[in-house]
Amino acid sequence: MEIKSLFNLDPNVKVRTRFAPSPTGYLHVGGARTALYSWLYAKHNQGEFVLRIEDTDLERSTQEATEAILDSMAWLGLSWEHGPYYQTKRFDRYNEVIDQMLEQGLAYRCYCSKERLEALREEQEKNKEKPRYDRHCLHDHSHDPSEPHVVRFKNPMEGSVIFDDAVRGKIEISNSELDDLIIRRTDGSPTYNFCVVVDDWDMGITHVIRGEDHINNTPRQINILKALNAPIPQYAHVSMILGDDGQKLSKRHGAVSVMQYRDEGFLPEALLNYLVRLGWGHGDQEVFSVDEMVEYFDIHQVSRSASAFNTDKLLWLNHNYIRELPAEQVASYLAWHMQDQQINTENGPALTEIVRALGERCKTLKEMAAASRYFYEDFAEFEEAAAKKHLKSAAIAPLTEVLSQLEQLENWQAHDLHQVIEQTATKLDIGMGKVGMPLRVAVTGAGQSPSLDITMELIGRVRCLARIQQAIEFMKNKAEAV
Ligand code: GLU
Repeated sequence: MEIKSLFNLDPNVKVRTRFAPSPTGYLHVGGARTALYSWLYAKHNQGEFVLRIEDTDLERSTQEATEAILDSMAWLGLSWEHGPYYQTKRFDRYNEVIDQMLEQGLAYRCYCSKERLEALREEQEKNKEKPRYDRHCLHDHSHDPSEPHVVRFKNPMEGSVIFDDAVRGKIEISNSELDDLIIRRTDGSPTYNFCVVVDDWDMGITHVIRGEDHINNTPRQINILKALNAPIPQYAHVSMILGDDGQKLSKRHGAVSVMQYRDEGFLPEALLNYLVRLGWGHGDQEVFSVDEMVEYFDIHQVSRSASAFNTDKLLWLNHNYIRELPAEQVASYLAWHMQDQQINTENGPALTEIVRALGERCKTLKEMAAASRYFYEDFAEFEEAAAKKHLKSAAIAPLTEVLSQLEQLENWQAHDLHQVIEQTATKLDIGMGKVGMPLRVAVTGAGQSPSLDITMELIGRVRCLARIQQAIEFMKNKAEAV
C-alpha cells in the first residue's frame, strides 16, 4: 500500500515526532510535558515536530479546546514544523486505506448484530474466556456490502507483539489478547486507533512519545502498521504526573491547565524547566535554558516512575527566571498581567524598571503586577497597619523636613534621593528609619517596597511630593481628631 505523505517528507530528517492532543479540554501540564519531550527529542536530533489535533470524537471535541491547546503551545514556545493537522479533515484518506485493506484481505466486513455479539460475549464469559470476536463474518459470505456493517482489522491469531519502549523497556503482548479491532463503524466513520496509525504513517513519524495511558493501544497499532507494511516507530510512554499527595493530578491540586499557570504569573521558561525535570535529569542540574534542554535531552533517560508535582519548586524556578532572564523578556510577559489587572502602564516607569526593582521580592508576575500599582496610580488610602505604625504625629516633622528638601532637589535620582533621606535624619538627629519608614508609607501607601531611593525615583517627583503632602495632612487630621 502506498504511503501518502502529507508534506515533503525530507529523507534527510531522521527523527520526526508529533504531539497529538484530543481537543476535549484545555492543555494540562501532563500533556504539556509530553509535548515538550516530543519537541525536545525532535530538536535534539535536528528533526521535525508535527502537531496533530485528534478531533474525531465529535461529541467531546470543541473549537474552544483546540484554540486553548494552540494558545498554550504558542505561549510555551513549542513551535511545529508541520500542522496543525485535523483528523476530521482526513476521513477520505482513512477510508481510502480501509477500502484498500478490504481489497487486500487485511480487513473484513462484519455484519453481526448487537444481539449476536452480546450472546457471544456472555458465552465466552461463562466459559471464562476472554471476550473476543469469533471471526464469524470472515468466513460468512452471505451478506452484501450494502447492508449495515462495520469493518474489522484481521489481527494476527498467533504470536505476540513485542516492542522496545524507550521509557519502559521491552513490552510483549500476545496476539491472543487482541481482538479483531473495528476500524470503521457502521456510520462509515473510522475509529481512533486506526486514524492514529494512518497519520503516524503518512506523517513519517519515527518516534511516538505519549502518555502511558496509550500503552494498550500500541500493540493494536503496531499490528495494523505491519499489515500496511509501514515502518514501526519507536514508542516511548511517559508516566503520569501526580499531585503532591500522590493522587492523579487534578483540579483539586490547584492549577492544572497550562494557561492557568500563565494567569498565575509563571514564566513559560520556568514551567518548561519544571516540566522537563519531572521525570528527566542531567546530573544535579536544576536550571536549564531551553537550549540546554535541547542539547541534553534524551527520551531514553526519562524515568518510568510517576512524578509528583511540587508547586514550591515551580515557584522557586519562577523566581529564579524572573531574576535571571533579561528584564526585557520578563517585561514582555509582565505586560500581560498589567493589562489583566487593569494597570495603565503609560502612566509610569518602563516595565523593565519594575522587573529590576521588584524581581527580588516577587515570585510570580501576578504578584509583581499587583505590587507595582502605586508606580502607576495614586491611592486614596494608606495600608491600615502600616499607617498605624508609621504615620503617627511623631513623623510629621521628619516628613515636613524631607519634603522641603525634596522640593529643592535638582536630580530626582536614587543616589541624590538617598542623600536627602540621610541629611534629614542627620539634621533632626534621628535614625534613618524614622525618616525612611513614614516616607515609604507616604509614597507607596504600604509598609514594604524595594529600596526607597529607587522606588521614589521610579514613582517620580510630582507624585512623590504630592503623596508626602497627602501623608502629612493625614497625620495632622488624625492628630486633630484625637
Ligand atoms: N490523542 C491522544 C490523547 O490526547 C494522544 C494519542 C497519541 O499520542 O497517540 O491522549
